[in-house]
Amino acid sequence: MEKMILIKYGELTTKKGNRNMFIKILTKNIEEMLREYNVHIVKNRVRMFIEVLDGKFDEVVLKLQKVFGLHSIVICEKVNTKEIEEIKKISLELLKKEVFHTFKVVTDRADKTYPINSMEVSRQVGGYLLKYLENKKVDIHHPEMTLHIEIRPDGTYFYTKEIEGIGGYPVGIQGKGMLMLSGGIDSPVALYLALKRGVQIECIYFDSPPHTSLEAKNKVLKLASILNEYSGHIKVHIVPFTKLQEAIFKNCDPTYMITIMRRMMYRISERLAKKRNCKIIINGESIGQVASQTLSSMSVINEVTNMPVIRPVACMDKLEIIRLSEKIGTYETSILPYEDCCTIFVPKHPVIHPDLKKAKEMEQTFDYESLIYECIKNVETISNFEEETNDLL
Ligand code: ATP
Ligand code: MG
Repeated sequence: MEKMILIKYGELTTKKGNRNMFIKILTKNIEEMLREYNVHIVKNRVRMFIEVLDGKFDEVVLKLQKVFGLHSIVICEKVNTKEIEEIKKISLELLKKEVFHTFKVVTDRADKTYPINSMEVSRQVGGYLLKYLENKKVDIHHPEMTLHIEIRPDGTYFYTKEIEGIGGYPVGIQGKGMLMLSGGIDSPVALYLALKRGVQIECIYFDSPPHTSLEAKNKVLKLASILNEYSGHIKVHIVPFTKLQEAIFKNCDPTYMITIMRRMMYRISERLAKKRNCKIIINGESIGQVASQTLSSMSVINEVTNMPVIRPVACMDKLEIIRLSEKIGTYETSILPYEDCCTIFVPKHPVIHPDLKKAKEMEQTFDYESLIYECIKNVETISNFEEETNDLL
């Protein structure tokens, strides 16, 4: 008997070309995720099998639980025989080790040349188990134990436990997006959700020293490094935003400070996105959460770009977002108390329903184009999160 990992793919589209692409990118992502381990991967259209040659099954499973595109992860036992009497004996051997009262047997006959159909295999194995195991009962609907038997061309696979994968599409299948990453709770969750739909991510962070601290910047990098464990390849572009922000503060009505600041952020995000070959902008805005996220604010802010702006948490409640951030491991870092640039320049009474014409008039009072140019020219890019990032904070 040989112990190995069996992967069931996530949300596959049915089109053949897409399926091949899905499996190809997923395999590449898994290979990268497991590069420190001695594994051998074999795949076909419906399953992937991973032999763990150094025996570190638990560690490999933990890594696989962070790969998008996996429906489930199964540790199974494989034998080369498909002989029904052997299948019965192995089933008995496996279930003898387990504690349970009720059970059922589910068979998948992937080898269509196999002479006994799935139902019949399950029936025969079930009967054999009832005969040789004491005090066990079959329960088709709510069994405590399910023995899965998969009969494939190359042998028979047995398993009893299925570990849930995180689903979604393999990262990279959808091209790239530019995500506005702040140190808050929302944007890291937005990042996770975009990754989950297969979007590869580059991040943009607006840094305003000395109004914002080095800790605030490091917090953003720490968040990126936590999320990088789900995908690899995350980059963070740090935009020196101080001069532009001070110019807005000096030249614009304080109630429009945030509206105009965010219009500038969108402009810069769009330009950097184009430069970096990203097709969309993504951020952590949530409808109604603050003055700049009312529908009228969003439309005035969004007016500066034609690029699609995706807001994965737009329709989620704050509590739902918090729960997800706890689950993905970013919450504890997000709640560290370092202020970002938005909180420092927040006026007492920001406009809730800004007027587009007024916003444009205020922007005409200073040369923001050259300040935007400076911002983009002086971007600093961080891309290596492989190294230890624990000492950032
Ligand atoms: P919180 O979780 O406290 O709401 P937040 O990061 O969502 O924090 P908001 O002021 O609600 O803060 O900002 C809305 C969105 O704008 C963020 O989710 C993020 O995508 C983007 N954003 C805000 N500040 C920055 C920044 N300094 N750099 C990059 N993106 C930012
Ligand atoms: Mg927010």
